[in-house]
Amino acid sequence: MTLKYASIFLLSIAILSCNVQEQEEGQAVQIPKAQWQDIASWDLNTTNADLEDDKLTTDIGIYFPSNLDPDFDKVTLEKMKESFLAAKEIYKPTGVQLRLKFARTGAIDPSYLAIQANEIPQVPATEYNNTYVNMQRNPARLTEKAKDALTHIIEDDPESDRTIYLIVLQDVFYPFLTVAEGRNWTINSVRTGGLSFPTYSYVNNLPKKHRGVISISNLQRGDRSRRTIAHELGHKLMNVSHEYKETHPGHEVYADGGLMLYGDGEDIPSGEEGRWHLERLLLSPFLYRMENGKKVWNEDYKEGGHYYDPLYGDYVIHFKGTPPIDPNW
Ligand SMILES: [Zn+2]
Repeated sequence: MTLKYASIFLLSIAILSCNVQEQEEGQAVQIPKAQWQDIASWDLNTTNADLEDDKLTTDIGIYFPSNLDPDFDKVTLEKMKESFLAAKEIYKPTGVQLRLKFARTGAIDPSYLAIQANEIPQVPATEYNNTYVNMQRNPARLTEKAKDALTHIIEDDPESDRTIYLIVLQDVFYPFLTVAEGRNWTINSVRTGGLSFPTYSYVNNLPKKHRGVISISNLQRGDRSRRTIAHELGHKLMNVSHEYKETHPGHEVYADGGLMLYGDGEDIPSGEEGRWHLERLLLSPFLYRMENGKKVWNEDYKEGGHYYDPLYGDYVIHFKGTPPIDPNW
């Protein structure tokens, strides 16, 4: 096991090939499931009291490990409640309601408290296509450790591929490529406050039953506790990156206005000038309406949920890639 995990970080070719062989021989280790129990102090009926049957709804489950390290104070149960209730408010103008399906606690395998979300990407986006096209062609891949963590943490449920899971973890690192100088790229790894594991980025590389996962690692600042859950839900439900009106997507776009930028904004715009954020939200496969006591789900993605998935029809923006380096390289 130690070697298997080390391989992710050391990128040792020898160890990697050994790892593949191990999987081919079907000797992959069975991952034990974490044991969860409902958080007694969080009354679901109170949180869900405002729900109405005829409105589009998304089910959200919260996993809050009971064995976080004593010095970890960036997410508390109180902050999770605040951020969840704020998200309900932020989505209210769209008509989409958030239903708390459960809030559970329990001890998890401590080796999953800090993980690297995805393998180091291999092909950076260049000017020949935009970032969404590049991600569709070269989707992010979960690390083995991240896959194991999700298997350990998320319970089996027939609706698991339609449920959003907010999982509190101490650290989730997300590696990506940026230009260092000239025509050379370098690997950055960002310590995330929340990571939405969006399908525009991972496409079919997320196991379907775990595709609703979102990690939450920092709600400490005031603005974070207000916006973080709503913002991460936006990546999942609108299926867009950091973008707003005229602002094309990027890794870290700081500006006010839109919920999907890094700033104070909470706007979920509509129409082509709003990059179809509202329209894409309303089409999300994570939404349903109650009809005669039954959940009637939205249609599912047709191609794994990349940005241009045919589910969205014309609710997509075609835009040019940005030259990341001097055009005369
Ligand atoms: Zn974001």
